[in-house]
Amino acid sequence: MNALEIKNVSKNYKGGVKALKNMSLSVEEGDFFALLGPNGAGKSTTIGIISSLVNKTSGSVNVFGYDLDTQLVEAKNQLGLVPQEFNFNQFETVEQIVVNQAGYYGVEKGGARERAKKYLTQLDLWEKRNEVSRNLSGGMKRRLMIARALMHEPRLLILDEPTAGVDIELRRSMWDFLREINRQGVTIILTTHYLEEAEMLCRNIGIINRGMLIENTSMKELLGKL
Ligand code: ADP
Ligand code: ADP
Repeated sequence: MNALEIKNVSKNYKGGVKALKNMSLSVEEGDFFALLGPNGAGKSTTIGIISSLVNKTSGSVNVFGYDLDTQLVEAKNQLGLVPQEFNFNQFETVEQIVVNQAGYYGVEKGGARERAKKYLTQLDLWEKRNEVSRNLSGGMKRRLMIARALMHEPRLLILDEPTAGVDIELRRSMWDFLREINRQGVTIILTTHYLEEAEMLCRNIGIINRGMLIENTSMKELLGKL
């Protein structure tokens, strides 16, 4: 089964920008997939459409077989999103943020607290659980974004430039964590500017330019061509 199937998707923004032009892309279950491309290529638009934050102009999107247009709730349940920008409530604690997130997906309180402990521990944030989010460092906020996205245990995790502005040491530990959850069966799609990041992590890769997918190949093959 495919974790993601994008078919003939176009996006015309108001004002006339054609951000995606009849784009199709499939990502298999279990894959670790990188979407690469220069600034303005359409990566964020693609992620926005998959996570139903941006309306597509035409085409279809399926997440684990659930159609975004007709089975939105089911599709959303399959998917965890780590956006680029921090969007927490500044005054909530680390633990409140993740427990509340689970609540939005209908996880009961006890289960939510158990998961919070698990993911916050794995992401080295458990000691910070009572800290309000505004007091966290940038690196801690990044890890909190990932913990929050995992709280409903999605089968597909999408990360938009997860390590932008992150120092190399933290980047490495985030990579290790992502590899581990991928190993446990979570399909991962990330966008990145860093070819090195894609090279280190990803099995397959899509290169997007001017709203079109210009390359869709395995990392191995791509490296062979360079
Ligand atoms: P978004 O709301 O998409 O998450 P931001 O929070 O950064 O993005 O807000 C900036 C707004 O400007 C967004 O709606 C963004 O998509 C939009 N934007 C980005 N590039 C352009 C552009 N070339 N023309 C018009 N709007 C743009
Ligand atoms: P990337 O994530 O690859 O940098 P984006 O998806 O953000 O690319 O942008 C693709 C194109 O769409 C760019 O030309 C950008 O300026 C434009 N764009 C993005 N968001 C908006 C928006 N809200 N309104 C108008 N144009 C936008």
